[in-house]
Amino acid sequence: MKIFIAPVKFSNKTLLNDVLLHLKQKSEYQPEEIFLDIKISGLYSHERKQYYSTGFIEQAIKLTEKYEGKVLILTEVDLYVPVLTFLFGEAQLGGKHSLVSVCRLHEEFYSGQGNYNMLLGRTLKEIHHELGHNFGLRHCNDWDCVMHSSNGIEEVDIKGNYFCNSCLKNLI
Ligand SMILES: [Zn+2]
Ligand SMILES: [Zn+2]
Repeated sequence: MKIFIAPVKFSNKTLLNDVLLHLKQKSEYQPEEIFLDIKISGLYSHERKQYYSTGFIEQAIKLTEKYEGKVLILTEVDLYVPVLTFLFGEAQLGGKHSLVSVCRLHEEFYSGQGNYNMLLGRTLKEIHHELGHNFGLRHCNDWDCVMHSSNGIEEVDIKGNYFCNSCLKNLI
C-alpha cells in the first residue's frame, strides 16, 4: 500500500528520512514523500497558540485527488480541535487522510532533555496508529496495541508499535 508522506511545517529532515526508511523496511507500506501546499496561517488560533487539526485534512482532501493510496501529513506545530486541549494526530476513519504532529512527541517538551530515539519511536507509533484509523480500526482496549488511544505521552510510550491480533483481523 502506497503511503504519501507530506511534511507541512516540518523542519527535521533526519526524522523525516528515518520515518521513510523505517516504513520502507519494516512495514507493508510503500512510503513516498510529496509536497502539499497547505496554508496553515489561517488555521492558527491566537487564543490557543495552536493550529486547527481538521483544517489540515480538509485542505489535503482538495489537493490529493490524483494520489492513489493514503496521504499522511507530518507537522511539528501543536494541534487542537475545539473539544480537546491538544492532539497527537487525527485521521479519517476508513478514509485516505491523516495527520501526525511531533510537537508533543519531543522528550524536551516534558523533561527538557532531548532523546532522538524516543522521538523516532513515538513518531512511528503515532503514524501506525493514524494509518490504522484509515484502515478502519477504532481504538483498542489492549494496552500493547498501537490502536490504544493516547491522551498523554505515557500512553504513547506504554503501547506497542504493532496491531494486536484482533485489530489485524479487522483491517480493511
Ligand atoms: Zn486514535
Ligand atoms: Zn488492537
